Amino acid sequence: MSTLEIRDLHVSIDDNEILKGVNLTINAGEKHALMGPNGTGKSTLSYVIAGHPDYEITQGDILLNGESILEMGADERSRAGIFLAFQYPVAIPGVSVANFLRTALNARMRAEDSESKGMPIPQFRRLLKAKMDLLKMDHKFAGRYLNEGFSGGEKKRAEILQMATLEPSMAILDETDSGLDIDALRIVSEGVNTLMGDSLGVLVITHYQRILNYIQPDFVHIMLDGKIVESGGGELAEHLEEHGYEIIREKHAA
Ligand code: ADP
Ligand code: MG
Repeated sequence: MSTLEIRDLHVSIDDNEILKGVNLTINAGEKHALMGPNGTGKSTLSYVIAGHPDYEITQGDILLNGESILEMGADERSRAGIFLAFQYPVAIPGVSVANFLRTALNARMRAEDSESKGMPIPQFRRLLKAKMDLLKMDHKFAGRYLNEGFSGGEKKRAEILQMATLEPSMAILDETDSGLDIDALRIVSEGVNTLMGDSLGVLVITHYQRILNYIQPDFVHIMLDGKIVESGGGELAEHLEEHGYEIIREKHAA
């Protein structure tokens, strides 16, 4: 069973402190939601967990199963089981969804074993079909060019299929994109709920309370100005929906 532990994390960009002591522990089997107004550092936290090189960690640690991952590169973290769904996925013209996923899987197999020839195509096809069936997706989707002309909902579908195929132990979904329509929210939520199990921990990052109606997190955390100022259950998100961030801001202003 996996655990991701963020300990007193301080992060700066260009000497500007963005995260000011974040503490958060996610166990496999748990769904966490991170909420907060724009500009508070939610996306920064997801990038830092995934290993984006632009951010400087000035204090604290990130541990996966008790071991620090700070010295690991982004690809190594991905192999260790950390998955970050990109907020703004890029289009790759001429590369089908299936090809992209097979390349990603094979790269991982090769990183684990340099002798690996990757997954044989028939086996990959079976795997992909099984994952698409699990997610109730049309098999035709695998033949589309990745993100080319995709609707918001289709981009999310590709993202969830990638998550299903790579089988991470910790998934971080940054859903701040205000362009997310209800359809896309539903796809992400149903996908997460389908893939959820004892071996997956999820952190959903969102500005809006509405995705939480679908995902129903076990834990909700509120971030203000680079710190998690409140943690609770689903009722915390409902409280936010009703009263907004202002009350929490006032409470924590000092
Ligand atoms: P959120 O996701 O909560 O809206 P972000 O993590 O995107 O917040 O941003 C937090 C703060 O860090 C903002 O003030 C933003 O301007 C700043 N920031 C984020 N990324 C960068 C970057 N690459 N360079 C400079 N400033 C950044
Ligand atoms: Mg963001």
